[in-house]
Formats: sequence, structure tokens, C-alpha cells
Amino acid sequence: DARQARAGAPGGSPECPVLPVLGLDVRVPLVTGGETTYAALDYAASAPVLQRVWDEVAAYAPYYGSVHRGAGYLSQHSTALFEESRATVARFLGCREDDRVLFTRSTTDSLNLLASAVPEGTRVYVFESEHHAALLPWRGLHTTWLDAPRSPEQAVAALEERLHAEPAGPKLVCVTGASNVTGEIWPVRQLADAAHRHGALIVLDAAQLAPHHPVDIGELDVDWVAFSGHKLYAPFGAGVLAGRSDWLDAAEPYLAGGGASRSVVREADGGVEVEWQGGAARHEAGSPNVIGAYAVAAACRALDEAGFGRLVERERTLTARLLTALAEVPEVEVLSLFGAGSPGEAAESRVGVVSFVVEGWNSSHFAAALSAEYGIGVRDGLFCAHPLVRTLRGAGSEQRGGCGAGGTGGGGDLNAVRVSFGAGTP
Ligand code: PLP
Repeated sequence: DARQARAGAPGGSPECPVLPVLGLDVRVPLVTGGETTYAALDYAASAPVLQRVWDEVAAYAPYYGSVHRGAGYLSQHSTALFEESRATVARFLGCREDDRVLFTRSTTDSLNLLASAVPEGTRVYVFESEHHAALLPWRGLHTTWLDAPRSPEQAVAALEERLHAEPAGPKLVCVTGASNVTGEIWPVRQLADAAHRHGALIVLDAAQLAPHHPVDIGELDVDWVAFSGHKLYAPFGAGVLAGRSDWLDAAEPYLAGGGASRSVVREADGGVEVEWQGGAARHEAGSPNVIGAYAVAAACRALDEAGFGRLVERERTLTARLLTALAEVPEVEVLSLFGAGSPGEAAESRVGVVSFVVEGWNSSHFAAALSAEYGIGVRDGLFCAHPLVRTLRGAGSEQRGGCGAGGTGGGGDLNAVRVSFGAGTP
């Protein structure tokens, strides 16, 4: 496709064309300039911002004002948009009446926020196959890592078995909706049922699932959901934590500061008496990212209107095509926890994320060659899921080494290549 695009389609324009895929109007994914056409196949890292989201943000920009603070028109208008954005996200996620929607910076921020609200004595359970954002916030709490399961059924059985063996008391399970490495979709509802059967609460890392599938808190019966705006066709800098309010309302604010405090009194003995806010304000101290929240809500509306049905169908077709082509190359190994099946079956059980290694190739060199030779932008590395990639590469999740100095990606010879699709993939 990239070669075809390089030959001129669609138009060979030096500007980024707007691709009206599913009415979503994605601007970035096919950039043509001079001799080079660039196809971005790295949606799992960040998705391009929908043209409609940019337009809505631009229309809001003249009314820019701080929220919840001012009596003036701009402040009131911004406050109304900010709170409407919260309501839009609540609808997008099918939130229950008592659920809280908090605007955060990202999935990482959301899960760290929740970790800060976990009641003392809570035991946390997490599969080693999670993204670091879902693995690491629980450090310092009593945390158990479960082995990466080899099938969805095994995931449910392993969780059930583990929780059954644990003493009574508060528990939290953290699971992903779809892996950022294999793209495989996890049995969220069944895991939630298993957690609840054993008195545990469950938080869903929907960073990869939410851009590709409807995420309905009620239907999945999870207690919290976290996702990032920048993977959902909104700009960087805003994310969401939504779900039960009880732990959040009982916890100390995630950030101490203005907005989170209802009353602050200096005491005679030199101390300070603070009465914290309830509700969302409790965990949103400081001047919030109103534009970011507004953009996330705009992306949620756009996706709702485009309809996930057609989006899922399109991404499955692309994924099946990629998996079929890769299956024809004997040197290629596609990374999978749950077992591949036919390319068609494998595409059914994934979001549009496929990671692979090519025998005889260093994955970083392979990715660099795809970019330089074909204008295809992919990701290489360990994808911020070091234990998972080590397990998938047969190195053992407890092994050290294999992780070079390449920041989130550097994995030396354990590196893989990741291709990921989204609404604007040509
Ligand atoms: N969880 C998963 C499954 C992810 O893929 C990512 C990002 O790649 C994250 C969490 C973290 O998201 P963010 O970097 O937006 O906080």
C-alpha cells in the first residue's frame, strides 16, 4: 500500500490529506511530501487527531477560560464545557449513576491515581503480561504478579484459583482489555466475574481496547476503566479514570492543591487544617486541562457517531490481511500469548495490533528499513511490557538483560516489530 501511495495516490500532495474513512476525517496517517509517502502504522502508540476534534477545539479556543473559579462569562462557559465533556465521557463508557469520571493526563496517570486511593491492607493482583503502566503503579502495595496466561480461559482460571487461595480482605485486580504487544483481546467480563466472586474489585486498562471496541463499564462489570486521549484520536495530555466513587472519595487527594481543597486554615501550633473537596474536584487539583478534556469528549462523540461496528470490521480486515501476508514468510514469527489459529481467526480475537520478529533480522534495523525504504512507520522494542516480551521471546519474564539503553523501546536482541492500525490506516 505504501508503495502504491508513493506512486501518487491519493494525489501526491505535499500536504497531509484528510482521509474521510468512516466519516472520521483523519488527517495524519498518509503524509506525502517530495519523493516520500509516509504510512503511519503505529496507532497503538498514539493515534492521529481527528480533523473534527481539531475543528471543535479551534471553535472553543476563543472562549478559553479557567474553570470552577471565575464569575465571568469565559470561566462559566469553560466550566460548562468541561462538565459537559465529563458527561460525554460518562455516556461513552456507559457509566453507572454513581460512577465518577476524572480527567487525568493519561492511562498511566489514571492508574497511578487509583493506586494512590487503594485502601490500606488491599492486595493487588496483576498479570505479568501487562503494560508497565498497569504493572508498576502498585509497587509499595501488597502485589502479586500472575504468570502470563496462554489462553483466555487460562487467564480466568488462574485468577480464580489465586483469589480463592487468598485470605479475606480488600483486593484489587488490574487487567488489560487488549495487549499493546499482541493485540489480543482479554476476557474482561469473565475476569470481572471471577474477581467479584472472590470479593475483589477490578480496574480495566482500556488504553488499547477503547480506540477499537466499545467499552461499557456496566456490561463489562468492571469497577474502574482507564484510557488515554492520545490513543483515541484526541491530542496528547488528557486521559480518563472512570468508575466507583467510594475508594476515590475516601482517599487523600492524588494531588494536593487548589481546587481539591474546600477550606485551608493555618493553625496556631504551626500546622494546617485542610478540608478536602468531594467529587471529581478532590483528585483534580490545579487548573485542569480543559482543552484536553474537551478534545477527549469530541473524540468520544466522533467514535460513537462513526460506530464501532464498521471500525472493528475494517480493522479486522486489515489485520487479517497483514497476518495472512506474514504467514507466507517462513522467517516471520508473530508474537501471540493465546495461540494464533488461522489469520482470520487471529484477527477476530485482536485489535489491530500485530508484533513480530524476523529471523536473521535485528528488529530495530527492520523497523528502520521499513521507514527508510518504504515510508512505513512502525514501532520496535519491548513496548513498555518487558516481562511479556521476554516471555513471548522465550527468555523468561524473570530474566534480566536483553533490554538495551533505548528508553521504552530498547530491548537489544529481544526487540520485536509492532504494526498497528486505526481509523485512518490507508
Ligand atoms: N496500557 C496500555 C495497554 C498501553 O498500550 C499504554 C500505552 O502504550 C498504556 C497503558 C499507557 O498509556 P499512556 O502512555 O498514554 O499513559
